[in-house]
Amino acid sequence: MNLRFDAVAEASRKKPLEVKAPAERPSEYFGKYVFNRAKMYKYLPADVFTKLTDVIDNGTHLDRSIADAVATGMKQWAIENGVTHYTHWFQPLTEGTAEKHDAFIEHDGKGGMIEEFSGKLLVQQEPDASSFPSGGIRNTFEARGYSAWDPTSPVFIMDDTLCIPTIFISYTGEALDYKAPLLRALHAVNVAATNVCQYFGSDVKQCHANLGWEQEYFLVDSDLFAARPDLIMTGRTLMGHNSAKNQQMDDHYFGSIPERVQSFMKDLEIQALELGIPCKTRHNEVAPNQFELAPIFEECNLAVDHNMLLMSLMKKVARKHGFQVLLHEKPFDGINGSGKHNNWSLSTDTGILLYKPGKTPMENLRFVVFIVETLMGVYKHNGLLKASIMSATNAHRLGANEAPPAIISAFVGKQLSDLLNHIEKSDKKDLFKLEGKEGVILDIPEIPEILKDNTDRNRTSPFAFTGNRFEFRAVGSEANCASAMIVLNTAVAEALTNFKSRVDALISKGEEKTSALIDVIREDIKTSTPIHFEGNGYSDEWIAEAKKRGLDSESSCPVCFDRYLDADSIHMFEGQKVLSQNELTARNEVKWETYTKKIQIEARVMGDLAMNHILPVTTHYQSQLARNVQSMIEIFGREEGKELTSRNVKLIKEIAERNQKIETGVEELINARKVANKIEDPRTKAVAYHDTVAPKMEEIRYQIDHLELLVSDELWTLPKYRELLFIR
Ligand code: ADP
Ligand code: MG
Repeated sequence: MNLRFDAVAEASRKKPLEVKAPAERPSEYFGKYVFNRAKMYKYLPADVFTKLTDVIDNGTHLDRSIADAVATGMKQWAIENGVTHYTHWFQPLTEGTAEKHDAFIEHDGKGGMIEEFSGKLLVQQEPDASSFPSGGIRNTFEARGYSAWDPTSPVFIMDDTLCIPTIFISYTGEALDYKAPLLRALHAVNVAATNVCQYFGSDVKQCHANLGWEQEYFLVDSDLFAARPDLIMTGRTLMGHNSAKNQQMDDHYFGSIPERVQSFMKDLEIQALELGIPCKTRHNEVAPNQFELAPIFEECNLAVDHNMLLMSLMKKVARKHGFQVLLHEKPFDGINGSGKHNNWSLSTDTGILLYKPGKTPMENLRFVVFIVETLMGVYKHNGLLKASIMSATNAHRLGANEAPPAIISAFVGKQLSDLLNHIEKSDKKDLFKLEGKEGVILDIPEIPEILKDNTDRNRTSPFAFTGNRFEFRAVGSEANCASAMIVLNTAVAEALTNFKSRVDALISKGEEKTSALIDVIREDIKTSTPIHFEGNGYSDEWIAEAKKRGLDSESSCPVCFDRYLDADSIHMFEGQKVLSQNELTARNEVKWETYTKKIQIEARVMGDLAMNHILPVTTHYQSQLARNVQSMIEIFGREEGKELTSRNVKLIKEIAERNQKIETGVEELINARKVANKIEDPRTKAVAYHDTVAPKMEEIRYQIDHLELLVSDELWTLPKYRELLFIR
């Protein structure tokens, strides 16, 4: 029996599941399982509703006195929807989400039970923090951690459970998750951007960051998946020869979506809409069996939660349709990996998109200020931004020969480049005049419409301006977007704060406001020049050029994490009150440990597969060949028999040599691990895993992939690339 052939047969037999669309229109079932405004209004007393919306809209403090009333309203709504449990839903430093479900049930004091859910349970809980990574925070500080409700992200229902989005922090206030620092970063950028907006009119009271992510993923049939221990354990194939056909025909992208996948997508979208995730686009991606889903952009914190929720939902719905979803950034060698473009922008409570060119010269100046200060933030912290998207898994896309390169640069397009150039190079007298009646005259040309059409999109840029937003393309498909969003928003907050203090200094010296704005912006256009790159980001020339410009070009994942502890980074995080040095140190420890563990697991699986799957199969085939040679010699005699079986003899030899190399490779891999495991310091250990363990796996894989081509197809036990990628 060969598991592979069984799996292939099972997979090919599968039919698309029928998915029944709800009778109502999407606009009617959108947010069905979300405790949104409409439900708050229905289930909460009027004064409680008013107080709660004030907390949500204006960030006022949550008054404990309303918590009980809110909890009662939520419970009533939940029970009407068949809910029996509740959980605090949070985002620990492991990727993914965590939850611990408790039933609503409590003793009623009369020997029976009642459904109970108090304000106290809604607002705060104590999950067993010791099972989540904290980078030693719990050793040095108070041992416990608690989760606290984030009222700005609505409560929702998954199956029979009421899920309450929460932050997760230690008793001494250190963040143990992604959400707490994200909320702080969003607050920082809100304050900084609102302050800068005051130069252009005082009606802006708040600014918020928007995020629209584009989730790429692969689907693999669940039976084939089950026959690949590497996919199960590590999320990627550790071996597997390229299939003769992969993406070279470009026929998958925008091709028609396969039927089974189509019904999976339909099911997923209905459930996502019910959870309030505004799904909009779906299509095939470049590689076979690779797809993408993108919602309409939302406020950044909500968008991050929705992405986390969508990733868990995808896994669940995929299983129902006989698929496994692969979120790993590089599940297959030799074909495109998966990313998650983060479309990011800032907008005001008065409805202005700050990265959208305006109509008047002053509006255009505001636009230029926000563009340039964003570039300043990205320039100053380019190494840190890269660190924010680095991981053991995403490193396969970044450092390698695939987009984007392990260098952060920004693309703004020709029109905008020309405009910035014009502002920097023009004589100030031509650019700016104070005229008696007309007030300020600015020679800042309008941005032409075509810019908004993105005609000159540069697909190789990791950070690109796309008309009314920036697109951070280096984020990994599996990542929590919060990591990148924490750094980006904080960096821009710092740049805007810095900008304002320099403009204010000039104004207080008596310079006219617009003139001061122009002076500082001209200086910053110049300073941030090195981050601009409009050329081909994949080229070797760019790597050399970027080094010359002083951009960070480190590609070793554990070394990239060092950027979090640079003086400039600590200064930025502490100055913007996003993360303290203590928190940064602790979080880096977690990053290094996670890196080490991931490579460790891969190395173990690689060793096991090589010894238990590959070598037995290759030696088996070798013996078949040897028997054939023997019987041929028996039939034809020594001379002729040898001549007729010369190909087999050559094969036997090649297999033997490759087997040998695999065996030595696995031995060396184990030894490299042993040496690395003795290292105490988490950074040094991670670096050792990167430098000495990971490369060994490549060598072993190289031999195995060659053997896959030599050995009889009938004997090969692991589903091959062509099966994983084309059966659906
Ligand atoms: P692409 O052409 O890059 O694949 P998509 O339409 O698939 O574009 O996705 C673009 C994403 O960017 C969507 O989530 C969209 O809502 C989002 N987006 C559009 N405008 C903005 C904006 N101003 N700020 C943030 N996100 C935006
Ligand atoms: Mg995009």
